[in-house]
Amino acid sequence: MTEPEGGAGSPDRPVASYLAPASGATLQVDLPVPGRALAIGAHPDDIDFGCGGTLAKWAAAGCVVTELVLTDGSKGTWDPNADRATLVALRQEEQRAAAAALGADDVVFLGHVDGELASGLAERAAVCRVIREVRPDVVLGHDPWKRYRLHPDHRHAGFLAVEGIVAARDPHFFPDQGLPPHRPACLLLWEADEVDHVEAIEEFVDTKLRALLAHQSQWESTMGIDRSAEAFGFETRIRERAAEAGAPAGLSLAEAFKRIDRL
Ligand SMILES: [Zn+2]
Repeated sequence: MTEPEGGAGSPDRPVASYLAPASGATLQVDLPVPGRALAIGAHPDDIDFGCGGTLAKWAAAGCVVTELVLTDGSKGTWDPNADRATLVALRQEEQRAAAAALGADDVVFLGHVDGELASGLAERAAVCRVIREVRPDVVLGHDPWKRYRLHPDHRHAGFLAVEGIVAARDPHFFPDQGLPPHRPACLLLWEADEVDHVEAIEEFVDTKLRALLAHQSQWESTMGIDRSAEAFGFETRIRERAAEAGAPAGLSLAEAFKRIDRL
């Protein structure tokens, strides 16, 4: 199939006017606030790390935010005796609390087994269905082309975001879904191998931290939070990361992405 060039004359680009033409600058700053956004993460907490500040900013400005979490998070513990079913339920609860902190409207869980996510046709169809149902202007996800990435779920989740968009925009993919095709205007990939877009989050880094800290089951493992410490070094690390992302654009705090407009 030929990739669309995305010109204004393309008849099936209902949201093309959402984006101004690319400026040619190497680092673009701040999309217009989308009407609807869909963030796709491999595990509970990935969305909050990757784009929590951006989602909070957009939600505060009236954007309808949906989160799609692909796996059940059932390997997210260092306790070899942990009851996995209890952990899955806890992590869903934590993700809902984090989404509420960001101002997100809905969380969808596909429930694939943590660590065993694949990016096959069945998984692509499921992501395509969510895109067609939510009809987002902007999709956000993991960068599947991030070099030397180890975790397979993050790679597969990135490919599912990309390939789910390709399927969702084309009426000949999964016509049995009975849903009209939908072409988002923009894809933002976090953990980007080549950053070319940043979103300012100065006023929303505290909200992002609140969302991240809702994932209490991950404090000791992923987040390296020492429960006995009074001041969380974790908060400092998140702020430092946001400062590093913003510096090249002259922003104090930001989240960094690879931006793809030609969808
Ligand atoms: Zn993850």
